[in-house]
Amino acid sequence: MIDPLYAPLYVNSHMHFELAKKDPQGNCTTGILHHYDENTQWKQSSLYNYKYSTVGTYNWSPSRYLNVYVVAAILGDIQDGVQIGGYTYKPGTAPNVGSDAVVLSIGLLLDPSTRGLSHEIGHWFGLSHTFDGNGGFRTPQNTNNTPPYNVGFKCGNDDISDTPKTPGFLSICPNYATLLDSCDIGKRPNMHNIMDYASCPMMFTQGQTDKMRSSAESSTANRNYLVDTANLVFTGILKQTVVSINPVTGDTTFSYAHAPTVICSPIADFYANRAKSCQGQTVIYNSTSYNNTTGLSYSWQFEGGAPATSTLTTPSVVYSVPGNYSTTLTITNSSGSSTKVRSPFITTSWHVDQMSYPAMEGFESTSSLFPVGWNVINKDYGSLTWEPANYGALGSSRCMLLPNANNTGIVLSGGNVDILETNQYNFSNTSNITVSFDYSYARKPGTPADEVFKFEYSTDCGGTWISMPATPDASTLALSGGTVSAPYVPFSDSKWKTKLYPALALTGLNNRPDVKFRFWFQNDAAATAQNLYIDNLNITGTVGLDELGNTIGLSIYPNPTSGSSVLEFTSPVNAKIAITVFDVMGRVVEESASEVLAGNLNKYNINKNGALKPGIYFVSLNLNNQKITKKLIID
Ligand SMILES: [Zn+2]
Repeated sequence: MIDPLYAPLYVNSHMHFELAKKDPQGNCTTGILHHYDENTQWKQSSLYNYKYSTVGTYNWSPSRYLNVYVVAAILGDIQDGVQIGGYTYKPGTAPNVGSDAVVLSIGLLLDPSTRGLSHEIGHWFGLSHTFDGNGGFRTPQNTNNTPPYNVGFKCGNDDISDTPKTPGFLSICPNYATLLDSCDIGKRPNMHNIMDYASCPMMFTQGQTDKMRSSAESSTANRNYLVDTANLVFTGILKQTVVSINPVTGDTTFSYAHAPTVICSPIADFYANRAKSCQGQTVIYNSTSYNNTTGLSYSWQFEGGAPATSTLTTPSVVYSVPGNYSTTLTITNSSGSSTKVRSPFITTSWHVDQMSYPAMEGFESTSSLFPVGWNVINKDYGSLTWEPANYGALGSSRCMLLPNANNTGIVLSGGNVDILETNQYNFSNTSNITVSFDYSYARKPGTPADEVFKFEYSTDCGGTWISMPATPDASTLALSGGTVSAPYVPFSDSKWKTKLYPALALTGLNNRPDVKFRFWFQNDAAATAQNLYIDNLNITGTVGLDELGNTIGLSIYPNPTSGSSVLEFTSPVNAKIAITVFDVMGRVVEESASEVLAGNLNKYNINKNGALKPGIYFVSLNLNNQKITKKLIID
């Protein structure tokens, strides 16, 4: 129940919202689009989000539609110590056309105690928080309603005459009858106001209603277009009917009625749990089709995949040959059918050969832009991304450059993400792995330190990424070059630093057959980051445990073999042993366990029955929990 002090101010704002029935091309729509996008964490500062979304407001004009983006999370946007769950812009304040929309986290949308959508739309029509200005939230620490509870926090006010000054409530809803005057003498806080943060939003006042309605009639940010009759016809809300045509003047008279609900055709779309896979890894697809999903049947085609087709909603597919493959989904129901092709959607990588160490990449080759197998991922699709540069660490000729400062003046370049991804490394049978790279970076004077650097690894061919332990952040990188105004160039070796990941920190990479690394950089929101240089990605490792192997005289012969082989060794101690044979995909194809006595020569047959197909295998001997792995080739 609304506080009786404010109940008389409660009014029906008579602002009626409807989902659009026609999209900008005039197609039938339910007004709700489902769109798969890996970029589902929409910080307000990342104006790129609207561009990433291919169904975004760049396509649906905010002069015709109120666009509401429901996203997985809005992480990192802290306001007054609170993680915000939604944001928008008041009329005329959006920094670009696309962002003149409401963004809500799914959590806020689903929480009925917030009325988050009403709150954001209130802002979109010009309302401030009731605690705005000098306001601060009444935090849980000062919610106890014992005098002098209003000491120590500030009073805020909006520009609405009938809402009182208030410090605002945060996520609570005390009994209004117990509230003391807050900031206006004789007035309790209007905590039931939707523009407060209290958990019992119920009302807009007459003053707020007047403000919203005048915004809707104002040309500021074209809000008045939205309620214009022609636009209501354009968006399918009103149905226009010809009443008469004047035979003399040709003038047409129309009548308008609320358009009836139309059953739309379905629209196909889909995603998968990964867009990059290792050979043999399972990819799980899921339909995100929308617009009409009643009684859908599914027809999938997976180029290069097994199965090659499916009629399931969430099929699992395996790709056994490396390559780039398209995926097609056709959906059908009684209202129609729709096809979506993503080409290529899936990139499958093959296990690469065992490495020899050290593996060194100094970017010196001029035969191609990037080393073989390396990739650049230009997340913002802009002109700025990684490129070779003619400066190198330790007097060498070349390195990799992310030319942030050489590309000023690019519209919306703030917050862009550019990724330099390595080829695949095979650390099978390898331990003692160390990784190092050289870097040089600087910072312009007076710029915010909010750009982000990451160095990450993937053990599933790029499907998922994990931060390398103790990677320097951008501020640490910038210590190498210091503060520089002009576009930064590392003119001397002293400007280069080396980051070394010692073997102890990288035991998680031991014996992993498919490892990729990537340099990940996000410019700060104002696009003021300096040039970043990377050179000499060096990797060392030890193949096998030769020491133990030598001690016990381990050998496999013949190798290569066309049939069976013998594994032979002499243990210096009584030991429990296990022998396991893996194929290149890590599947166990043979195994046995037994005990051996000190000093005996032990022989075991591998592929005794000749059942193993030609290929590369790894024979692993576990001797009292010490493991030695040898490669066996059957041809
Ligand atoms: Zn708000």
